[in-house]
Amino acid sequence: MKFERSKQLFEEAKKYLVGGVNSPVRAFKSVGGEPIFIKKGKGSRIWDEDNNEYIDYVLSWGPLILGHANEQIVNAIKQISNFGTSFGAPTELEIEMAKAVVDAVKSVEMVRFVSSGTEATMSAIRLARGYTKRKKIIKFDGCYHGHGDSLLVSAGSGVATLGIPGTPGIPEELASLTIVLPYNNIDAVKEAFEKYGEDIACVIIEPVAGNMGVVAPSKEYHQELREITKKYGALLIWDEVMTGFRLAYGGAQELYGIEPDITTFGKVIGGGLPVGAYGGKREIMEYVAPVGPVYQAGTLSGNPLAMAAGLKQLQILKEKNPYPSLDEKGKILEDGINSLIQKYDIKARVNRVGSMITLFFTDKDVVDFETAKSSDTELFGRFFRKMLQLGVYLPPSQFEAAFLSDAHSKEDINETLNKIEEAFRYLK
Ligand code: PLP
Repeated sequence: MKFERSKQLFEEAKKYLVGGVNSPVRAFKSVGGEPIFIKKGKGSRIWDEDNNEYIDYVLSWGPLILGHANEQIVNAIKQISNFGTSFGAPTELEIEMAKAVVDAVKSVEMVRFVSSGTEATMSAIRLARGYTKRKKIIKFDGCYHGHGDSLLVSAGSGVATLGIPGTPGIPEELASLTIVLPYNNIDAVKEAFEKYGEDIACVIIEPVAGNMGVVAPSKEYHQELREITKKYGALLIWDEVMTGFRLAYGGAQELYGIEPDITTFGKVIGGGLPVGAYGGKREIMEYVAPVGPVYQAGTLSGNPLAMAAGLKQLQILKEKNPYPSLDEKGKILEDGINSLIQKYDIKARVNRVGSMITLFFTDKDVVDFETAKSSDTELFGRFFRKMLQLGVYLPPSQFEAAFLSDAHSKEDINETLNKIEEAFRYLK
């Protein structure tokens, strides 16, 4: 494979865009090598500017659950754009889209659309603080909720039970209000509530983590978290930006049977266009302006093109119910990788829920960020680069989820497994 044109474009891009990209992981820094520049996509495949073809497991970091350039979604965008691109005024489409979300997700009675997952989680935190009149929030180490100041706080190096470290650019005063706890550890949550219970506005969690690689807590963990938050009057925010409409039509909360107080969405609900949303019970949502005092607004919120793309994607998902088939294909991939791990004696583990999957290069069970970080990231980088050369585009970081789409065929999965076998042979 040749990457001449991508190389040239990257050199040019670095002159004008910070690091040559508009989002850091795209620069391939943690895996080595240089990014490929994408020209087009169709179904499970993408092509770069050198005309190399790849089976894509990034899918724009999750939104494209029906694959690239789905004809119905592209047509919906084309049609609506004939009437104009944005009005900054109410449109009927927003009601239809809101109904689709409310119908799908049991805990959501009302919704507010924004333009990214970051906006959704930032706004959800503000709402929780406004509603409870409390300041502290709990987030979990290794969970990512976008780049809002309160949420970018993480434990940094390793897991600290009650660590409160800061990040450059984020005032210490604000960072100190975010309590970072280890994921998937209910004792740490109990301890934090015993200490700070009366001051905690909310707990925000990825119900199935994708941003430390895929890690799924038990049902009991989520049940206990629900009970503790209720007991102390703190709101439970499920960040379903990644899992919403991906793990099931009703999101992770359909799988676990838990009802959070606020849910955040993004990715899949936008059909590949910029959309985020937060929603919950009417009583809480009506704390948001113009009904309530918590302010949040957006020039492009509820944008007609984004609503049309998102609505079409949700309609197709509801009608088609691709979730059992996504799970089946995910299982074939998981089982296939596990046999190859055994055959080639690779120190690696696979974690998967439905169409979200991560291959960790560690011999530990990955249950939290600490164990995820035991992975050999240098080995992951070599694996990633080999897979790229073989025509498989994986997320360029060990700590990410790879995604399957409805457009991925069983042949795609088999082809991928053959290439993983070739890569494992190369790693030995
Ligand atoms: N929350 C979760 C769980 C995410 O995975 C992401 C993005 O990857 C976000 C929030 C932020 O969304 P966005 O990148 O659209 O701002």
